[in-house]
Amino acid sequence: MSNRRRLPREPLCPCGQHPATEPHPYPEAFKLMAYRSDDGTETRQVWNARNGVTPFVITFPSGRRATHVNWAGDRYAPLHQPAPGDLVFTGGPDTPQLTEWPG
Ligand SMILES: [Zn+2]
Repeated sequence: MSNRRRLPREPLCPCGQHPATEPHPYPEAFKLMAYRSDDGTETRQVWNARNGVTPFVITFPSGRRATHVNWAGDRYAPLHQPAPGDLVFTGGPDTPQLTEWPG
């Protein structure tokens, strides 16, 4: 038997996918990340608005291909409030979709 006992009504994390006492199953959950275009002319912050995977390579709205850079600078920000036009990952845990925050 394990020493760890689970309370019958352990509160859930706000993401609804696991108990609040356990970390998010996906390390990139709710993180602010930097993506830089391959030609070096455009760097944008992208917020992962969900507990799910994020792609290494994306396409900016400008059409430039960009890659996730400065991984050590990723910042956990579950309460981040995107501004209109900010880039955000939405979608299911395994199906990230890059969208511009409306407004
Ligand atoms: Zn969670």
